[in-house]
Amino acid sequence: MSNTKTTTSLPRIVIKLGTSVLTNGTKRLSRRRMLEIVRQAAHLHEQGYPVIIVSSGAIAAGREALNYPELDRSLRGKQMLAAVGQGRLIQLYSELFSLFDINVGQVLLTRGDLSNRTGYLNARDTLLTLLAHRIMPVINENDTIATEEIKVGDNDNLSALVANLVDAELLILLTDQLGLYTADPRTNPDAALIPVVETLDEHIFALAGGTSTGLGTGGMITKLQAAQLAGRSGTTTVIASGGLPDVMLDIAAGKHIGTTFLPGTTYRDSRKRWLLSEKSQGALTVDAGAATKLRKNGASLLPVGITQAAGDFERGAPVRVLAPDGTALAIGMTNYAAHEIRQLIGVRSAQIETVLGYTYGQEVIHRDNLALL
Ligand code: GLU
Repeated sequence: MSNTKTTTSLPRIVIKLGTSVLTNGTKRLSRRRMLEIVRQAAHLHEQGYPVIIVSSGAIAAGREALNYPELDRSLRGKQMLAAVGQGRLIQLYSELFSLFDINVGQVLLTRGDLSNRTGYLNARDTLLTLLAHRIMPVINENDTIATEEIKVGDNDNLSALVANLVDAELLILLTDQLGLYTADPRTNPDAALIPVVETLDEHIFALAGGTSTGLGTGGMITKLQAAQLAGRSGTTTVIASGGLPDVMLDIAAGKHIGTTFLPGTTYRDSRKRWLLSEKSQGALTVDAGAATKLRKNGASLLPVGITQAAGDFERGAPVRVLAPDGTALAIGMTNYAAHEIRQLIGVRSAQIETVLGYTYGQEVIHRDNLALL
C-alpha cells in the first residue's frame, strides 16, 4: 500500500476547532455544536475531501468531567485535566462521526514529534494512511506529556504544522469571532472585517494585539502565526466563526467567509525551494527508463529503477538522483535509508516488504518530495 496516495485528488483540508467553538461559549462541550461540526466535516468527507480535524477541548472536557475543580493555573493541573478529558473528547467524536459511518483515528502530537525528521515522517505516514483508508484523523496536542520545551502550546500553530505535514491546500481556523477586524469589534463600532489578507506583515499583526478568547489557549495572534506558517508552504488559511451555519461547506466551496490569508507561494514551489536548499547526503543512480520517467512525467522514484546508492544516509535525508551518465536529475527526500535502498536495488515495489520485512511505501522518493533540477 502506498503511504502517500489518497483515494481522491481533492485538496486536503485541515480544520481547527477551538475550545470556544466546541463549548459554544459555555463552560461545557456543546454536544449540539459538535454534532453540527461533525455533520459538516462528514459532508466534506463524503464529497471526497481528505479532511483532518485538529481539536482542542480536552482540558474543557476534563474540567466538566471532574465538575470544575478548583485548581491553580499550573501546567500539571492542565495536564491532569487533559488526561481526564482527552479520552472523553475523542469518545464524543467517535460517537458523533459513527452517526455518519465514519471512523476516527486519534493522533496526539507535540512539537518534539515534528521537529525531527523521523518523527515528522512517521506522523506524516500515519496521517496519510488514515486518509487513504478514509478515516478521519482527530488531532490534539499530547498535553499530558508536553512540557514547555516540547510543546507547540496552542492548537492554531499545531494545525499549521499539521497542514504543512500533509500538504494541505486549505487550513480553516474556526473560532468565536467572524474573522480579523481592522480594530477590536467589541470596543470599536467602526471595526470592519478584513475579507482578504494578501501580505501578512507587522501591520496585520498589530491589528491583533491583545485579542484573546476565554477558555482556549489561542487568541488572534496565534491564528495569524498559524496563517503565516501555513502560507509559507503554500496553504491558504481562513479564519471564520464556527457558529455560522454551513461555514466549513461554504468555505470549501470557495465562498468568501471570514478572513482569507493568501499564501505567499504555491505548495510545490515552497517544497522545491526547501529541497533545493538542503545539502544532499547521498546519491541514487537510476537507469535510463527511470531517468526518462522522472524527467518527462514527474514520476516518483521506485526501487526498481535504482542501480546504485552512494552515501550513508537515514530515511528522510535529502539525496541527489543521478542519470546513468552521472548528471544530476533531481534532489529528493528519501523514504528509505541508504542501507535499505542497497537491498532494494532493482526490486519491484510489491516485493519491498518481502525483502526488508517491512515497508515505508512503494516509492523510494515520492514525487511530492522530488525537485527536478
Ligand atoms: N490542547 C488543548 C486542549 O485540548 C487546547 C490548546 C488550544 O486551545 O490551543 O484543551
